[in-house]
Amino acid sequence: MLKGKTALVTGSTSGIGLGIALTLAKEGANIVLNGFGDHAGPKAAVEALGVQVGYHGADMSKPAEIEAMMAYIDQAFGGCDILVNNAGIQHVANVDDFPPEKWDAIIAINLSSAFHTMRLALPGMKKKNWGRVVNIASTHGLVASAGKSAYVAAKHGLVGLTKSAALETALLPVTVNAICPGWVLTPLVQKQIDDRSAREKLDPAEAKRQLLAEKQPSLQFTTPEELGALTVFLCSDAAVNVRGQAWAMDGGWTAQ
Ligand code: NAD
Repeated sequence: MLKGKTALVTGSTSGIGLGIALTLAKEGANIVLNGFGDHAGPKAAVEALGVQVGYHGADMSKPAEIEAMMAYIDQAFGGCDILVNNAGIQHVANVDDFPPEKWDAIIAINLSSAFHTMRLALPGMKKKNWGRVVNIASTHGLVASAGKSAYVAAKHGLVGLTKSAALETALLPVTVNAICPGWVLTPLVQKQIDDRSAREKLDPAEAKRQLLAEKQPSLQFTTPEELGALTVFLCSDAAVNVRGQAWAMDGGWTAQ
């Protein structure tokens, strides 16, 4: 379905981003990976699906590096047709204990990076008369939790950015939407399970059960594959009238 399209998935060396990259590749899209840590393994996994794969190690907190990455995609792939803004970090502390440098990093990586990739990718999408932007927000783009002020502010901001950009492109075959996952078992969430397990002296399975029970009525983690399938739908022709939405995939979390 996506043969001939090029998708940039930021933060795709791990977790949700890698899951989405693999699902888009299964639909035939060429993939540009981004993120820290090992990228040879993820690159080989996507390449095995028979598509063209690139990698750029831009630090998403640095606008100049984002500009270099977008220039690389223009030059090596003829532009970015599908933009999945997924890179993100977390830090948990109350507002009065929140380290200012962590606040700045979360806003830069979880929110401002999406502004920079969008401002650089949208002109090409408009020129080609086709484009899809999928911003990976969170249930925390819709509701809050204590201890996550920077993350909640960034994700609410990302939902707002999504709505504005969707209105600006409403007359074109270019759509902009957000996906709001509930708990997904990735390294970002494993750290919160480990912290809970240490803090409350719980065995890891019980810490995991409690984390889910607090928020997610299905008591099941959302998976990167499910999020990949929703991304593919948002990229389909059938989704051309889905615009400016913040689509929850959260086991019922925000229905409560
Ligand atoms: P993860 O830690 O597994 O992956 C994060 C990715 O972002 C990695 O590839 C990492 O290298 C990359 N990254 C981090 N900082 C970066 C930077 N400065 N520049 C470039 N890349 C950077 O996390 P995940 O759980 O897969 O999260 C992915 C996205 O999904 C995040 O935006 C997160 O907020 C969101 N999300 C996660 C959950 C969850 O339960 N895991 C729920 C809702 C939303």
